[in-house]
Amino acid sequence: MERTQMEWYQQEHQQTLDTLQSTETGLSSLEAQNRLAQYGLNKLADEEKISRLQILLHQFKSPLIYILLIAALVTLLLKEYIDSGVILAVVLLNAVIGYLQEFKAEESVRALKNLLVAKARVIRDGHEQEIPGTDLVPGDIVLLASGSRVPADLRLLHDIELRIDEAMLTGESLPADKTTAVLAETGLPPADQTNMAFMGTAVVNGRARGVVVATGARTILGTIAGEVRSIGQLKAPIQHKIEQFAHTIGLLVLGAAGLLFMIGLLLGETVKTMFMVAVAAAVATIPEGLPIVVTIAMAVGVARMAKHNAIIRKLPAVETLGSTTVICSDKTGTLTRNEMTVTNLYDGRQQYQISGTGYEPEGQVLLNGTAVTAASIPELALLQRIGLLCNESDVYEEEGRYKVDGDPTEGALITAAMKAGLQPELEKEQYGQLAMIPFESERGYMATLHQAGEQRLILLKGAPEQVLEMCATSPQQLAEITRVATAFAAQGMRVLAFAWKEAAPDQDALGHHDTASGLTFAGLQGMIDPPRPEAIEAIEGCKKAGIRVVMITGDHAVTAQAIGRQLGIIEQDDAVLTGRELEAMDDDALFEKVRSVSVFARVAPDHKLRITRQLIRHGQVVAMTGDGVNDAPALKAAHIGVAMGITGTDVAKEASDMVLTDDNFASIFSAVREGRIVFDNLRKVTFFLLPTGIASIISIIITMIMGMPIPYLPAQLLWINLVTNGLQDVAMAFEPGEKGILKRPPRNPLEGIMSRLLIQRTVLVGMVIALGVAWNYTTALQEGNTLENARTVAVTTMVFFQFFQAWNSRSEYDSIFRINPLGNPFLFYSMIAAVLAQLAFIYAPPLQWVFRTVPLTATEWVRVLAVAASVLVVVELDKWLRRRSA
Ligand code: ATP
Repeated sequence: MERTQMEWYQQEHQQTLDTLQSTETGLSSLEAQNRLAQYGLNKLADEEKISRLQILLHQFKSPLIYILLIAALVTLLLKEYIDSGVILAVVLLNAVIGYLQEFKAEESVRALKNLLVAKARVIRDGHEQEIPGTDLVPGDIVLLASGSRVPADLRLLHDIELRIDEAMLTGESLPADKTTAVLAETGLPPADQTNMAFMGTAVVNGRARGVVVATGARTILGTIAGEVRSIGQLKAPIQHKIEQFAHTIGLLVLGAAGLLFMIGLLLGETVKTMFMVAVAAAVATIPEGLPIVVTIAMAVGVARMAKHNAIIRKLPAVETLGSTTVICSDKTGTLTRNEMTVTNLYDGRQQYQISGTGYEPEGQVLLNGTAVTAASIPELALLQRIGLLCNESDVYEEEGRYKVDGDPTEGALITAAMKAGLQPELEKEQYGQLAMIPFESERGYMATLHQAGEQRLILLKGAPEQVLEMCATSPQQLAEITRVATAFAAQGMRVLAFAWKEAAPDQDALGHHDTASGLTFAGLQGMIDPPRPEAIEAIEGCKKAGIRVVMITGDHAVTAQAIGRQLGIIEQDDAVLTGRELEAMDDDALFEKVRSVSVFARVAPDHKLRITRQLIRHGQVVAMTGDGVNDAPALKAAHIGVAMGITGTDVAKEASDMVLTDDNFASIFSAVREGRIVFDNLRKVTFFLLPTGIASIISIIITMIMGMPIPYLPAQLLWINLVTNGLQDVAMAFEPGEKGILKRPPRNPLEGIMSRLLIQRTVLVGMVIALGVAWNYTTALQEGNTLENARTVAVTTMVFFQFFQAWNSRSEYDSIFRINPLGNPFLFYSMIAAVLAQLAFIYAPPLQWVFRTVPLTATEWVRVLAVAASVLVVVELDKWLRRRSA
């Protein structure tokens, strides 16, 4: 099967197929399997993985670790071996924990990427099917349609108006027109091989069928090294912001620690003591856990979104989702089920109803309540026949259920025709299809050319306005047709018009000039597409959450209005703006309109881009859905481009930030909820970490000024900060959402992590903790206890302050007594673990020896717990006051 001397583009179709040992109907799955073993997976070199070693080394790249390492060295020189041991243990522990966390985060992000494997449509075992693009082998017959990424290098065998954007290979910005004809020249560059389609390029128009000539590294793309597009490696802005925030705090703390060092010296402490204290205080205050917790919180959010059918492609989307203010959604399939059923017909004279739902051909065509068939009414037969034949889709039975292969709109037409007694196979045989203009939204119609006995016929279907322009109809007729079409649409139906025309007996191709005029109107078909119940619920939810929902549809304004009402997007008479009206407006006029209009009808993809831009100009945070190639610019322009996982094209998916695996509007809403939770959790962790850190420094300063020894040994500070604290901050990234999370307005995207409330409360809590620790510590000393005892009291008070502060952090407004303690089991158990660790710290002899602790008396325990609990009382009071004034 080696390549012959001849290039692929120089070979005739049959020759190409023979060389590849394939046929027009493709390979068998068995043969494909064998070839896969021989040629390997159809993919380019793997993206570079971040190695475990890199992750481990990364743990040692923080300023905190540098400080600790310097401290370890200094203590070693000072012969304080226990201290250096503790510090080194802490460094190691920190590295191990950081490694595990980061590794886990990396893994989960990587696993999510695999959910998004590109698919390819092939013919195998004689029928069309979808397979992972990586499974393609030379000889496979591949089908292309507008919006697909070419999955391997192909020699084209058939095509209809195929145009491919090859910019990534050739640098040519205009899409290339493709043919299937043999090219005689030798040595053509890829740009001139017009009968080939190359891996990675994008189909912008038309359809085609081709045979795979090369896969994976043997493709043109594969031979160009380093062309791999990286996906999703981006860091979210919030991660940068928090890293910066932690960095700034770190610098401030270093300054403060330096100050502490000076004050200590002035108050007569030794350089040695003060050095250790300053280092320990700095380590205790720097919120070194923050950046890693941010990453984990994001990863948790991404995983939760995936569970709700939303796959995040770009990490920043997680953050932005939480502040979404407008969701612009396509109608068909996203807000509605995309399960079309034709219910009403009009053949130009009479109206009919059709019973039955879904694609099962069970139901009847009723004329004034009586069942009729196509056989008895020629006009009905014509209308239904056009629906059946001017069609690219199939309805088939599988496990007793009827399904559509292709476009649901077209499937509905086939089922309707079957209900009238027409048989698809027979009809297709009698009226052989010779040529086709496929349906494209921008054009609004589709046409086919058929052989009907001696005659040739052009059959056409499309949006009524479009079709009627091509038909010769009298003004009365036109008025009547429009009246019926509007009546159908007012019930929320999608309406299609049908027409036909005789062609010259020798015509064998179809162009747009053939359909421009002189057609005969054959009738209308109206189909329902019920709203998704969960979309109605989600729209209701959006309203409560202060998010506006805008519906954008290719359907008629009257249909759009009716569906918009059923969905609860608009009230009775709210205006609908059509693509045509939009076309006539300049950006400023549209800017005014998007303020109030929530339903857009007969919209073309480029209108979506304009709508997005104007909404953004209003300062809105916009999520926009899309599926076609031409939706890509709007998806890119929106803050969150949402592509459809099932019906979406590769190009749309690549342009998006998020892909919905179920194409369902409700999944966007769930993702917004998760986005809000992620942000909330970042705030919770920050509020948990900052005040305790600040309190350690302040308590040291207070006691020093009071002329007492420093309340903690350096090793003890490290213990508090890295052991007891370290367990709980990570757990907080797993907090579930609060009850009211969807009842408040979207967050202002300009607002950072530190809100005003958070700053005020951080200061408040920081003071309470510092004073509380100082109080317990001085009391213990004044009662004549040993310094070891007083320090044990101080450290334990601090640890229990953190315990209560963890409870405080779980909600900004809600009382902790209204939150399920086991709502976040991870946090609950890590808090228990922290308490147990603290007991070991006090009572386990080895730890007593390392940290120089002593057992506490019952009175001391009561005092520790009572004082520590005060922070809970203070914050509960603050929450209560704020709830009251809200
Ligand atoms: P939405 O934007 O709500 O998802 P859509 O983009 O699917 O809708 P289009 O597919 O552009 O909307 O359909 C617009 C109009 O074109 C329909 O109202 C219908 O009249 C007509 N139409 C839809 N599908 C076909 C088809 N396969 N053949 C001919 N006409 C069609």
